[in-house]
Amino acid sequence: MEIKNANLKFKGALTKRPSTTEIVLHHTAVTVKQSVEIIHNYYLNRTDDNFLGIGYNFYVRKDGTVWQGRPVWAQGGHCFYHNHKSVGICFEGDFDRETMNDKQYKAGVELIKYVLSLYPNCTIYKHKQLNNTACPGKNFPFDKMVKASKEKAQSAPKKETAQASSSAELKVGDKVKVTANYAASAYDNKAPYSASKGSVRYILKIYKGANYPYRIGVKKGVLTNDNTSGFANAKGLKKV
Ligand SMILES: [Zn+2]
Repeated sequence: MEIKNANLKFKGALTKRPSTTEIVLHHTAVTVKQSVEIIHNYYLNRTDDNFLGIGYNFYVRKDGTVWQGRPVWAQGGHCFYHNHKSVGICFEGDFDRETMNDKQYKAGVELIKYVLSLYPNCTIYKHKQLNNTACPGKNFPFDKMVKASKEKAQSAPKKETAQASSSAELKVGDKVKVTANYAASAYDNKAPYSASKGSVRYILKIYKGANYPYRIGVKKGVLTNDNTSGFANAKGLKKV
């Protein structure tokens, strides 16, 4: 599954979510199509609270594309009393007045499956189960989507174990194991981040060429979800 990144700029430092036990599903509540940048700008201009930018971690469009909002590890601003423990996913549309098309539905299932692979013990909620709101609308295919997300997660093939893999073969979404205690670079490019042997992460991003942001002089590498550590040349990672 591809997660598109619009490189949104937030107006302050995002904080790491202390725990992740819930996935909360939302809709935009308008029928007009909106890019992730439009949603982000809406949040930047909101005056009812000090939003740093888009409140959701992911945004699923009607065309089936999935966009990164806040990074998956970051605390969101989408559900009162639950932001510190939930991943927020927003679906483009007003599902009180529309029904969801197949492309968007399938993208939602794949995305939830992916989030469950990162945080397997999550309970999935409609926003309205947790706050006083109609979100994500009476036509939102909640039960069907949750069921499909779990079915697919359970039947995912598990045979590719511990097969050594070069950086060229790693793809976004791949599950990887750290093969040695390895000093990766931290996200802020300051302190070295010590990745302990045996820990499991997921590839969030692959850098090739001069845009690898973590260590001067290194031209390629991968970014993983756990503490957003960067691995120069994908060294010390094995696909599992
Ligand atoms: Zn909502």
